[in-house]
Amino acid sequence: MDNTLSPGLYIVATPIGNLGDITLRSVETLRMVSAVACEDTRVTGKLLHHLGIKQRLIRYDDHAGEGDRERLLALMMDEPVALVSDAGTPLISDPGYRLVRTARERGIAVTSLPGPNAAVVGMTLSGLPNDRFLFAGFLPNKAKAREDTLTALGQVPATLVFYETAPRLDAALAAIEAVLPGREVAVARELTKKFEECRTGTPGALAAHYAAHPPKGEIVLLIAPPGEEAAPSDFDVDALLRAALADAKPSQAAAAVAKATGLDRKTLYARAMELK
Ligand code: SAM
Repeated sequence: MDNTLSPGLYIVATPIGNLGDITLRSVETLRMVSAVACEDTRVTGKLLHHLGIKQRLIRYDDHAGEGDRERLLALMMDEPVALVSDAGTPLISDPGYRLVRTARERGIAVTSLPGPNAAVVGMTLSGLPNDRFLFAGFLPNKAKAREDTLTALGQVPATLVFYETAPRLDAALAAIEAVLPGREVAVARELTKKFEECRTGTPGALAAHYAAHPPKGEIVLLIAPPGEEAAPSDFDVDALLRAALADAKPSQAAAAVAKATGLDRKTLYARAMELK
């Protein structure tokens, strides 16, 4: 690898949890640029410290204004400048869009170094159809806007991929259950980290599971295309029944799980008696 870099903008993807997930080229580039534009200098400072790199850090976050952007653009006319976000691929639900657009308009060299992205990791892990997927960022915060988004996207013949946070997961699953009942959903959580988990089922079954086991951490939420009805696995059903049996009688547990999954209550009751 050359030991100099031409002036321009270097978009560098960084790990989404596991610090081993950074490419050799990204490490070299972060070492060789003149400055690193980042969302939070403490977060990027820690990553660079871990990589043994000392760099000039320039804050460039969601609140960056015209002046911040112009200063960075002026710098990258003469020097190589990296853009990173706190985690993952810059610009994907992260800052950078205007910076890249203006840099390209002004003829500044822009290159993008691929690496971790939570949406793609969630997509590959979920087992949902992957020939076509539509990444839609975060679902809106307000209930009506969230349902409108799901109604609008729900008929698209592609797996839908959203970013979500743990405190909002129950509201998101309830909205999916209301708008797209029975659709197979995957919750991919804490990807690349110690407690990585990917759980699939109907929105109702997943809501019941996470009501009993409140989720922590970062989440990618995926919804299968139209026509993909969920068939909860025996493992899922057993987990739901066990969770419900923790504070209910078998008949009540079976009724609750039947409501959440649409499965036959008598069959669930028989299984609940076996598990009890
Ligand atoms: N640019 C990032 C990327 O390439 O993945 C995404 C940034 S966005 C502000 C943060 C959201 O990404 C989180 O709320 C979560 O939905 C998702 N995310 C990031 N890291 C994750 C992880 N390790 N596991 C699951 N989801 C993650």
